[in-house]
Amino acid sequence: MTTVRARLVLPLNQPPIEDGAVTIHNGRIASVGSWDSYHASASNTVIDLGSRILMPGLVNTHCHLDYSNMAGKIPPPSDFPAWIKSILVLKSHWDYSDYAQSWLTGAAQALHTGTTTLADIEAVPELLPHVWESTSLRLISLLEMTGVRSGQNPEATLSQALSFLNNLPRSSHRSLGLSPHAPYSTSAQLLRLTGLAAQEFNLPLAIHAAESYEEFEMFMAGRGPLFDWLKSQRDMTACGLGSPIRYLHQQGLLSPRLLAIHVNYLAPEDLQLLVTNRVNVIHCPRSHRYFDHAPFPFQSMRDAGINICLATDSLASIHKNQGQLPELNLFEELRAFTTTNPQIAPEEILNMVTLNAAQALGRQGELGELRPNAHADLIAVPYNGNLSNCFDYLVNTIPTPDFIMIQGQTCVCPAS
Ligand SMILES: [Zn+2]
Repeated sequence: MTTVRARLVLPLNQPPIEDGAVTIHNGRIASVGSWDSYHASASNTVIDLGSRILMPGLVNTHCHLDYSNMAGKIPPPSDFPAWIKSILVLKSHWDYSDYAQSWLTGAAQALHTGTTTLADIEAVPELLPHVWESTSLRLISLLEMTGVRSGQNPEATLSQALSFLNNLPRSSHRSLGLSPHAPYSTSAQLLRLTGLAAQEFNLPLAIHAAESYEEFEMFMAGRGPLFDWLKSQRDMTACGLGSPIRYLHQQGLLSPRLLAIHVNYLAPEDLQLLVTNRVNVIHCPRSHRYFDHAPFPFQSMRDAGINICLATDSLASIHKNQGQLPELNLFEELRAFTTTNPQIAPEEILNMVTLNAAQALGRQGELGELRPNAHADLIAVPYNGNLSNCFDYLVNTIPTPDFIMIQGQTCVCPAS
């Protein structure tokens, strides 16, 4: 048994505890309470963190670790297809070791900035057996599938992904899922088959959806720069008939297991489709800013009761900050979101990278909160302020955790 004590403990499923303690046994949380109620025993190790906020590790629901070393390499584009073309050029110059190195760089950044669980889109899944063991992060690796440019048969694309997935060892630390890339880069058949496979094998599912105006225009109106670029590459018969969200619904993809990433452009009936099918929406504030999208429809989604999470996306679509390369830091996303949405309470914003994110991944009660039997994934940041300001501090100041524990194993510990 190990007990971690701190001046403030934020379980998130209950009010903050002053002078609190979290006891850990076999990688799981055994109890959460006040230090006074904790009874020391000789077999317990105590880690006293002093003036710190102790809280659950953050959960990043959308990332592309293998693009991390593309940070700062693509200037903000004139339109969305221009960005896709730029990243395709960049990728054509990269080999396996570039992707592997990039993945590891991203994983180290995410961990050291307080992320303990990460749902990652894997464009180069072959590297997973080699990189997984190099990080302590809890990972949900979602295998990316496209097929429009390669012209590969959808059954072959899916069976290749499923066979890869079945050959990788899984644990509570490492799990797998599927990610058809986007409505415009995949065929309708691949989407239908993937939805069925995810249901059959109980897999998490992620797709970039309604990210750009150009994608919305392509499906809604059957025109625009993305339509013009892709019309010689894919079947466009579904274009001009309805929104990207309606299109995904028609392919049977909308469900509570879906992480719908971005969702910036909605037709009037889309909100109801997302609500009825209990789809999780993942908003990436800094990526949103980089592309200069229309305002994210946060308020209407929130009022409709949609589960909304905040995530980083890849570093290939985040602005440099005063000349500095961006990092995979969820605290940066919290600050970017609160800057645009100052009316939203900091507690609610923090939930979007903890409790909501756990729900989106189907891991409620296990991740994103401190409660008995949850995974012992904890972080702590130095803090000398009042209890009443602690949430405000967390979402506004980009604090640096100096204590990080995953599955009861300490990864980072403050210098004593
Ligand atoms: Zn993405």
